[in-house]
Amino acid sequence: MTTNLVGTDGVTGEYRPAPSKTPTSRPQGLGLGDIAGAGQLERPDKLQQVRSGEIASVHSWELVTAVDGPGTRLTVFLSGCPLRCLYCHNPDTMEMRRGETVETASLVKRMLRYRRIFQRSGGGLTISGGEPLMQPQVVDRLLREAKQAGIHTAIDTSGNVGHRCTDEMLQNLDLCLLDIKSGSEETYEKVTGSNLAPTITFARRLAEAGVEVWVRFVLVPGLTDADENIEKVADLAATVGTCTRVEVLPFHQMGQDKWEELGLEYQLADVNPPTKEGVERAREIFRSRGLTVF
Ligand code: SF4
Repeated sequence: MTTNLVGTDGVTGEYRPAPSKTPTSRPQGLGLGDIAGAGQLERPDKLQQVRSGEIASVHSWELVTAVDGPGTRLTVFLSGCPLRCLYCHNPDTMEMRRGETVETASLVKRMLRYRRIFQRSGGGLTISGGEPLMQPQVVDRLLREAKQAGIHTAIDTSGNVGHRCTDEMLQNLDLCLLDIKSGSEETYEKVTGSNLAPTITFARRLAEAGVEVWVRFVLVPGLTDADENIEKVADLAATVGTCTRVEVLPFHQMGQDKWEELGLEYQLADVNPPTKEGVERAREIFRSRGLTVF
């Protein structure tokens, strides 16, 4: 577990677009130790409490502007992920047991404290990871409490365990940042170790429920950048009626050290970030489907 629990450069969790250079309010010292119930997820009773949603296994959080949704947002990174993406830049979020346990009520309190910032900036709460839906009860409670307080809500998910998201949760969700790792089945499996079908099913549910979707796609040279693969992601995004934005995120090497620290094999050490032309070409494929691309 990193001791720096607050991202300093907006790259703590999932692949994300660059944050605003001038975050309006990035409080200092937002560690997990200052809230009730913080501790390690080591006892079976704690695991049970995570399952019931009483406590959450949290990697970190941060207050950011212009990433993870509109306005200034409190982004909470929950621990645990069913995927094993080759390009994951935060592999220390993969295992739930590596997170710190925090009372969900404390997270709610923290969120409510920023209500005025959210109102002024048009921001809100984003639950990311890891994969937030590995802790569906925690997500359920945070979404409910946020909606009751009039706070805009978002989750950042691959959709791989979208079946854990209930219809009620969808009703309390304003925006889904949907990470589509690949459009070709074969490439998806190579990238993540899992399959694409659950993401497609979840994308359909989001559209049917009227939840706004921002699709995120990481462009990795030699892995996800084949035209055919990008075209399939674009075709899928184009069928999601509520998709208002696509973000093409260039691969980077910022997570490499973490893989080594964890003793995990990092297979992309020799891969360079995509060229500007390569990124633009990918964006053009999405644009050709009538999608708004960033
Ligand atoms: S979905 Fe992939 S990139 Fe995101 S946390 Fe899980 S393994 Fe890492």
